[in-house]
Amino acid sequence: MPSITVVGSVNRDLVLTVEDLPRPGETVLARGFVEGVGGKGANQAVAAARLGSRVRLVARVGADGEPIRRVLAAEGVDLDAVLTAPDAGTGIASVVVDRAGENTIVVNPGANAVLSVEDLPQWLARTPGEVVLVQHEVAAEVVAAAVLRAREQGGTVVLNPAPARPVAAEVLAAVDVLVPNLGELAALLGTAPVTGPAAARELLEGAELPCGAVVVTLGADGALIKQPGRPAVHLPAPAVDAVDTVGAGDTFCGALADALARGADLPAAAARAVRAASLAVTGLGAQSSMPYAAQLDTLP
Ligand code: ATP
Repeated sequence: MPSITVVGSVNRDLVLTVEDLPRPGETVLARGFVEGVGGKGANQAVAAARLGSRVRLVARVGADGEPIRRVLAAEGVDLDAVLTAPDAGTGIASVVVDRAGENTIVVNPGANAVLSVEDLPQWLARTPGEVVLVQHEVAAEVVAAAVLRAREQGGTVVLNPAPARPVAAEVLAAVDVLVPNLGELAALLGTAPVTGPAAARELLEGAELPCGAVVVTLGADGALIKQPGRPAVHLPAPAVDAVDTVGAGDTFCGALADALARGADLPAAAARAVRAASLAVTGLGAQSSMPYAAQLDTLP
């Protein structure tokens, strides 16, 4: 069975749907409200588990985290390395989604900020080639230690540098596949953000990132892959009715890790990730709209 370790955040997602996103100073009435489990770590773990991988999550929740553990356990995620932070609440993400599927998100990190280097299991990559998937919703020193340790142990290291913040060169050098969106790519390169596949290709072709490959997600435009020594390849997304893009990037990363853990090459893995993420935007919520393997396999 493909094996993945995800090091990252767990949040309570409080999702409000509105007609239009409120402007500064404005109060608007919600059309609906749901509470679910989120956080980039938990989301990416669930996305990969739904596609059939054995997934272990390394994270912290608060003393209020029992209902969240139950949800993640029901998804088949191994929670042995999910610790409880006795003095912090579980992280909270307040998400507002408008009728066009655009969103704004405010996060209170809570227990995620307490996850420390000492909390990382000694073995992150237990089997050679095991995929270790890390994001930026935990402390930079935890990300750095996870990436370096996983690399040392022969794992395939996938870093989703979201939200954007600087990454040390020695950490980037240990990353096999970097998965930023356009904003995160521009932030890492210190350039102005660009839009569209053509501008993204230009940015990526001229980029000096000391990591292995880069897979840039482009929203409705799909993704762009850049492997060392090869031209960038654009993978368009299928045209879908997007109702909520929350969790699209997480579905992408989880599906990419699942495919890599099965031994797929990067272009094939990224193509599967594009299909999985594009399916996920057709439903409301982050985890609730993540596809299962059977749904993905029936797509043309
Ligand atoms: P988020 O922060 O909303 O989770 P992100 O910025 O990390 O998203 P995006 O680049 O917006 O990531 O989207 C990730 C993937 O989701 C894309 O590569 C694409 O496959 C899919 N996707 C997103 N929006 C759409 C859309 N409108 N139509 C089809 N696919 C989409």
